[in-house]
Amino acid sequence: MQNKSKPEWIPDNAGNEYTTSIMPGIKDIKHKSKPGKTAKHLTVDDYTNGILAGNITILSKAITLIESNAQRHYHLAQDVLKNVLPYSGNSIRIGVTGSPGAGKSTLIESLGLKLIKNGLKVAVLAIDPSSTVTHGSILGDKTRMESLSQETRAFIRPSPSSGTLGGVTRKTRETMLLCEAAGYDVILIETVGVGQSETTVRSMVDFFMLLLLPEAGDELQGIKKGVVELADLLVVNKAEAQNKMRAELTQRAYSNALSLLQPATKGWSPKVLTCSAVEETGIWEIWSAVNEFRLITEDSGIFRERRQKQLLDWVDTMLNDGLQRMFFDNPLIKSKYKICQEAVLKGTMTPSQSVFDLLEIFRKTK
Ligand code: GDP
Repeated sequence: MQNKSKPEWIPDNAGNEYTTSIMPGIKDIKHKSKPGKTAKHLTVDDYTNGILAGNITILSKAITLIESNAQRHYHLAQDVLKNVLPYSGNSIRIGVTGSPGAGKSTLIESLGLKLIKNGLKVAVLAIDPSSTVTHGSILGDKTRMESLSQETRAFIRPSPSSGTLGGVTRKTRETMLLCEAAGYDVILIETVGVGQSETTVRSMVDFFMLLLLPEAGDELQGIKKGVVELADLLVVNKAEAQNKMRAELTQRAYSNALSLLQPATKGWSPKVLTCSAVEETGIWEIWSAVNEFRLITEDSGIFRERRQKQLLDWVDTMLNDGLQRMFFDNPLIKSKYKICQEAVLKGTMTPSQSVFDLLEIFRKTK
């Protein structure tokens, strides 16, 4: 029986023995864990000092700890995070989404290289929901951002390749904090429009950008309306001379659509710009929009307000995930749940009664 006063995933025995895990993406370990290779080599202080000194090797190792599904790594990573937390939060966090082929990685590379030339440090993270479902990857299979990856002031980290979206989200958020503590000024988080991924990225960034392709008519592309509503900036990419007209039609169609929507950020009217990531035109305009957004929202307090709300939402999301896991992993619930489902389908029990009974059973097992 667990001590009721603390969550079950807190170690019972000098930090080395773990029972049940309720954290997304953290595996149950029911045996005494041996110190891992990484844990043996580097202490919490080694990780902390290395990250704060901007050491890329140590930063990468710390992210590997965060991505590990072992409980012992989870706790080590949390200790490191706690130490570096006061040094995080100083970057601008930018989400980039768009259909595969829209030019996200080309644009991120083009923008990233310009920012680096201007003295900034740029980190690129990815959330690839396809990898969590199919174990294949839309974002990760290509050789991406080759020039950017060779820059010492750039750090590129693909999305963790397995786990639930909840687990991947936690890992990306925590990775973002480590990158900030390591001195990255701009964090770009890339995702494709699959499932909940845009909403997930929106929930962890300050500024959200949607990349579009030039279209022949003035009709809207097959982009979910909900995603347009999340965006602070829409960018029609591939707007070279031969596509100029189509790009402008698309720009107009989306400007009209936006005028009917509630802005994603209070006090900021989303813009629609055009660019060519390949010819590197319109890139500074994108960066100017980001800066203008930052000035306006910092001034109005919306920037800070959103970050605080995101933090609390993060706590709630993890708490919900944890509670659900705890509930459905309960052996008594596992068997009763099936019985209740059958009774509801037969019409011998109401849905409310089944929920009431299940919660009562769960309450009594605690
Ligand atoms: P992603 O899947 O959204 O990351 O798209 P990529 O950046 O991989 O680009 C998909 C394809 O579009 C690649 O062949 C790029 O070279 C091409 N591409 C990207 N940006 C542009 C652009 O501005 N103009 C043109 N003509 N092609 C581009």
